[in-house]
Amino acid sequence: MSKRTDVNELGEFGLIEHLTQGIELKHNSSYKGIGDDAAVLDYGDKLMVVSTDILVEGIHFDLMYSPLKHLGYKSVVVNVSDIYSMNAIPKQITVSLAFSNRFSVEALDEFYEGVKAACKFYNVDLVGGDTTSSRKGLFISVTAIGEGEKEKLAYRNGAKEGDILCVTGDLGGAYLGLQILEREKQIYLSNPGVQPDLGKNDYIIGRQLKPEARRDMIEEFFPDAKLVPTSMIDISDGLASELFHICKASDVGAILNEGGVPIRPDVEEQAINFKLDPITCALSGGEDYELLFTISPDDLEKVRYMPDIYICGEIVNKKEGIKLHTKGGNIHPLKAQGWVHFGNE
Ligand code: ADP
Ligand code: MG
Repeated sequence: MSKRTDVNELGEFGLIEHLTQGIELKHNSSYKGIGDDAAVLDYGDKLMVVSTDILVEGIHFDLMYSPLKHLGYKSVVVNVSDIYSMNAIPKQITVSLAFSNRFSVEALDEFYEGVKAACKFYNVDLVGGDTTSSRKGLFISVTAIGEGEKEKLAYRNGAKEGDILCVTGDLGGAYLGLQILEREKQIYLSNPGVQPDLGKNDYIIGRQLKPEARRDMIEEFFPDAKLVPTSMIDISDGLASELFHICKASDVGAILNEGGVPIRPDVEEQAINFKLDPITCALSGGEDYELLFTISPDDLEKVRYMPDIYICGEIVNKKEGIKLHTKGGNIHPLKAQGWVHFGNE
């Protein structure tokens, strides 16, 4: 009998490595292939940066609490975020959809309102896509194309021992937003007469339903300060998982300071309401679409007074591993979670 291996034995990242082993790049223009937030193509003066993502109903979004307009917006955001995380500027997107007859023209119009709003805000052109049917549910695939300069692109593999670890914004909010929406959904399902109690959680719920990518960092703050990160990744799966990607690609270790990880007081409060440790939400929650990056220690002055950037650790020798320095002064190995479970059919 032929062997059957469950994909969950490899996990998402193990599976990608397995499927793509032995792939060799034939063209000089394929400057950087698999393994970063985006591929980089070299066509002369400027480099072209390309990233693609799929969002699946029931896995990545739930239409019971995701308005279609927000979903359209978010589908664009998650892709332009991958372009920004290369220190490149998004210019075009394509949008491909598969949907069942449950979706009306009006519903799809709403989705496109969100897509168009994001294209306006991020200054990208919608240049194509594909439309087809599905037996069940909505599938969304967006590809983003951007432009970068060779000396400015930031990869996952550029972090060096002694570099300083920085993060933008605040973390954990998107995950807690999801917890609130899930809680209210369960209450509604068991008692449809009850209106959702979203409390004063606009910010936290907004982080889940309508995240933004850090255009400001890449288009304003970094160029104004003449700062080029030595490595960078966007935080889609949680800070811990992203730090593992940088360390693995750069062949280094890291010490993350718990005290330097930015968490808003209202996010902290909600975490405690859910009996969750706030730092765990920040480390493993995901979907915040902030940037994790490293800088040379010579550039420390450039970031010190930059708004919304937090210094949260240091790159060390690989031998030292990847560790969390807690507020209580303990140091222990950081755990990376953050890969999807491939569920039953
Ligand atoms: P991100 O979380 O930034 O979207 P992923 O973890 O999805 O990145 O992907 C990591 C790398 O693996 C990227 O370079 C991506 O293009 C590549 N990749 C993911 N899935 C596949 C696939 N099925 N075939 C080829 N390359 C893939
Ligand atoms: Mg990414």
